[in-house]
Parts: sequence; structure tokens; C-alpha cells
Amino acid sequence: MKDLREMRGITLPIHRVSTGLGEGEEAVRWTVKCPATQHVVDLGTCESCPHLERIQEEATGPESLQCHPEAPRPSPPPGEAYAPLLPPLLEHTRVDELMTQDVYCVSEEMRAEELAELFATRKVSGVPVLDEDERLVGVVSRADLLRASDEEEEDTPRLHPERAGAVASELMNPSPVVVREGTTVPQAAAVMAAARVHRVLVVSAEGTVVGVLSAMDVVRWVARKACYAV
Ligand code: SF4
Repeated sequence: MKDLREMRGITLPIHRVSTGLGEGEEAVRWTVKCPATQHVVDLGTCESCPHLERIQEEATGPESLQCHPEAPRPSPPPGEAYAPLLPPLLEHTRVDELMTQDVYCVSEEMRAEELAELFATRKVSGVPVLDEDERLVGVVSRADLLRASDEEEEDTPRLHPERAGAVASELMNPSPVVVREGTTVPQAAAVMAAARVHRVLVVSAEGTVVGVLSAMDVVRWVARKACYAV
């Protein structure tokens, strides 16, 4: 039986890849994701392809093309050694295995001046705030507390004048992005992507902070599972 796309034809978007060359000069490549080969190809490849029907041109350049590709070839495996292992690993690996467990937290009473000092000495972008029962109640972020110096040198941030004298509970975001201990890596990645954040706190069922997972932890883990030494 023929693949449906062979009979009907399909429309594919054409993408623009620009490279700045200096002095306002730019090199442009037009590319298409070919469904037959599962690769991105230059438009020149399509122009000489027997399956091309037509290219739709707009004022800004080629917009889309219609073609009748052959049945798609299966995607090449990402690598012989780990290909059969990656899907189950993704499904079953929990954030607990990747997260950093050394997390520095602060109490609700910590003053802005102390927090500023903390951010100046530690390379962190935010600290979890805990109540007296050690449960997470919010996060104070470096960006909210500090402002860059007049010279805008990021290494010498200063406490924002309006924050002086305040305490952590007044400065914090009371709705930080968190995941529960036991959450799988894909679930945590989805949470980070949806919330547009680069890290999430991992909390226990009791609401205590047990770790922090960053997008870089996930990226590094994927690379290592693919046998890269990073
Ligand atoms: S025209 Fe040919 S090379 Fe281009 S996308 Fe279609 S099948 Fe692939």
C-alpha cells in the first residue's frame, strides 16, 4: 500500500538560516525538513528532486513547497550502544537521581542586607525560604533583591534601596515552581518548559526542600547517557 503522502502531496514550510557577515552583510540559506529522509535539506536539493511539485514564493523569499515524497525512511538510531536504553531511562529516571542535594535555604526572618551578602558570595540566582517547620514557603530571587551598580557591572550588585530593611517573607515569591520527589525527568522538564524557568525545587511530600534540579542537570544527564564525557 502506498503512503498517503505519495498520493496527496504535502506542503512543507521553508526556513531561513541567516549568518551575519559584518558590515550589514548577511548570508542566507533556505532549508526544508524532508519527510522522506528525516533530514533538513537545502532548498537546492528540493529543486533537483523528482518529487517536487512547486515552490511558493513571497516578497520575502521562498515560503513553502509542495511535494510528493516517498514513504519516510525510519529515523536513524541515535547510537548503537544506548539507543535501546534511552526510552526506558527517560521513563523511569526520577529527579532524585539528578538533582543537587546541597541546597542553601533561608528563614522567613532573614534581612535583605544579609540576603544581599549571600547573593554576593554565593553564585546562586535564588534561595528557598523556609518557615519555622522547615517547610518551603517561597523563593527570594537575586534579581528582585539587587540592582546592578551604576556601571552595570554584574559582579558588584547592590541592594535595591526599596528592599532595605525588609525580610525574606516580604521579598519572596510565595508561589515558586516546584516538583515532588519521585517526579520523572520528562515530567520535570515539562514543568520547567511550561513555566519558562531554568530550575525547579524538589520537595518532599511534607513540603521540605530536598534538592534543586536545573535544566543543565538534565542536559548533562542526557549527554552522559549518550556516552559523552561531560
Ligand atoms: S522535494 Fe524532495 S528533497 Fe525536498 S522535501 Fe520533498 S521529497 Fe524531500
